[in-house]
Amino acid sequence: MWDQWILGHEAPIRLGFFFGVLTVMAIWEVIAPRRALTIPRVRRWPHNLGLTFLNTFLLRLLFPAAAVGVAATAAQQGWGLFNVYALPPLVSALAAVVIMDFVIWLQHVMVHAVPALWRLHRVHHADLDYDVTTGARFHPLEIILSMLIKFATILLLGPPVVAVVLFEVLLNATAMFNHGNVRLSSAVDRVLRWLVVTPDMHRVHHSAEDDEANSNFGFNLPWWDRLFGTYRDQPRHGQLGMTIGIHKYRDPARVNRLPGMLILPFRGEITGYAINRRQWREQDETASHEAG
Ligand SMILES: [Zn+2]
Ligand SMILES: [Zn+2]
Repeated sequence: MWDQWILGHEAPIRLGFFFGVLTVMAIWEVIAPRRALTIPRVRRWPHNLGLTFLNTFLLRLLFPAAAVGVAATAAQQGWGLFNVYALPPLVSALAAVVIMDFVIWLQHVMVHAVPALWRLHRVHHADLDYDVTTGARFHPLEIILSMLIKFATILLLGPPVVAVVLFEVLLNATAMFNHGNVRLSSAVDRVLRWLVVTPDMHRVHHSAEDDEANSNFGFNLPWWDRLFGTYRDQPRHGQLGMTIGIHKYRDPARVNRLPGMLILPFRGEITGYAINRRQWREQDETASHEAG
């Protein structure tokens, strides 16, 4: 059966797509780069990809059945919405992919909003450059949290096994695409933005400026940001003039080497980025009085 084949080949399917998309993007970045890198590839890639491989190994060790295994169990037990209410397979698969993407978007907003979770997520944002390897660079604790949220979503939703593997391959591929340091004509970018998050769209989210970093949370479908008011077209200083990363963390030894990345969440005080540390400034007060 189709499901059995997917369950038996989940790891090679995902690895195949990962290396395939990585290769295509890497070539594209060499041929048509968007920005000049501040740190050469040879010094960044072993660390960024090292973190990716560490995470892959850790996930296989902790959750050998993976997300598809949870979906198969839910189907056997009749757990979750789509296992209770039978819809045509294509409809439930498409709906499941869209709903899972929405959950990932909500999770991404949450890790920016909750100060302790931002500590984990800032490992992704602390990269001083922005390229295909940034897209796979997350702290192991965030990866584990993310997997547990995915398991809970699958248990509630009961998506078809094929939808889960499709979603994971799609999310992985689009995340590598939209973190690409690649040039697309503005006309192509504008059209593509209605279907998928583009590199120029997600790069805004990697700005060092707070208001820009709190925009464009989507990794795959671009609709959630437009629908919920977090969409921003371009950074204030433009795609080439913007600063990538986090203002307070700019030492390459700390933010672009594997040991530094692993301890980054445990470093430093709570900063003004956290939502419960932001203050209303005097001039905002006067401005609102004048406006009101
Ligand atoms: Zn983020
Ligand atoms: Zn990102």
